[in-house]
Order: sequence, then structure tokens, then C-alpha cells
Amino acid sequence: MDYVFPPPPVPSLAIRGSEQRFAVRRIFCVGRNYAEHAKEMGADTREPPFFFAKPADALVPDGAVLPWPMATSDLHHEAELVVAIGAAGRNLTPEAAGALVWGHAPGIDLTRRDMQAEAKQMRRPWDMSKGFDQSAPCGALVPVSETGPLSAARILCTVNGQIRQDADIADMIWDVPHIISHLSGLVELAPGDLIFTGTPAGVGPILPGETCRVEIAGLGAVGVRIG
Ligand code: MN
Repeated sequence: MDYVFPPPPVPSLAIRGSEQRFAVRRIFCVGRNYAEHAKEMGADTREPPFFFAKPADALVPDGAVLPWPMATSDLHHEAELVVAIGAAGRNLTPEAAGALVWGHAPGIDLTRRDMQAEAKQMRRPWDMSKGFDQSAPCGALVPVSETGPLSAARILCTVNGQIRQDADIADMIWDVPHIISHLSGLVELAPGDLIFTGTPAGVGPILPGETCRVEIAGLGAVGVRIG
């Protein structure tokens, strides 16, 4: 193939205990998936899940030092369970959806909260408040073959060692099979897709020089420092 410039590198995630990497196709994210977080953002708690997306090249690995993002003065952390999809599927029932899970990882849905608040007020899209450069820190994937389906695990977010978010993924409004089921009715899922599954209560700002770390029991952690 004769490209006019070299194709960009394939975004990918490390896999715990393996030299192989998981090639990433798309990144979908769930909005408001924990009742306490939905309340803190002023929303009703039992609506169907809704989705937004980040570019696959927004991924950053554990240990990265990120420059302060452009065009914000209110960068927020959102600690999230990330689900990696390993098989194709569309219009799946929750019972069938679980079979698409390849693995899990801890992730951070970095958010330009000031820009998102303005987008909400103006009824504009969230793309620029959510899908900016380096907005998707994600740790190494742990294969589901090692953990089994994940329905409960403590999820913890610290900033400079201080606990900001402390919850359990069992408290998600929509669990992983239901999230995949809903999403598979909107797009055909494919191997390499990632789903950030929403954040519990306690979101807040990260300041320049601070380190944000998200840990999920059994999956390890992802930490980034804002330069
Ligand atoms: Mn989120």
C-alpha cells in the first residue's frame, strides 16, 4: 500500500503476565453508571445507559507523565473499570454479552469538567470535553481467563495518596453484561473495542504536579502524573 504519509501506530494495551499486546480499535465510555455519582452530577439514576467515545490514540499507559491539557482549568479524574472486547457481536442479550469480554483493566476517564459543563448547558456534544489528547489512562489488561467475570471488586482513586473515590463495581447501575448488551444494539462490537464503564461518586480536580492513581482489587493499578 502506498500511503501519502506513514500510517499511525496501532494503539494497544499491555497484558499482565504476557509479552503480547492488545490492539485497540475503539474506546466507548458509559455516562453516569453509579447512583451516587449520578446524584452528585444532578441526574436521575435509572435511565438506560448512554455512551460517548474517545479516540483510541487517547490511551496512555501506567506511569505516564501528562502535560496539562489544552483549553481547561478544571481537569477531573473519573476512576473506571475498563472492559476489553475480544469477539464480535451485535444485538446481544445480557446473557450472551458476557462472552465478548476478553479482559479488564483499571482506567481513568480524564474530563475537562469546565468544558463539559458548558457543553451540557449549551446542549452540545461532549467530544471535546472527554475525547481530548491523552484523556484515557489505562493499566495493563488482565485476561478474563484468569479472573472470571468481574461483578464485584473495590475501586479506589487517590490523588497524591489521598482517597478521592472508594466504591465497588458491584454498585454499577448497569453491570458489564447489560452495558455490552445495550452498546451492541447501537454498534456492532468488534475485537479490540474498549468500554470505560462509568465512575463512582467522588470525582474532583487534579492539579499540575499531582499524581492520580486508580486501583481495582485483583486488576492492579494505573497511575499518571500531571506535569
Ligand atoms: Mn466517565
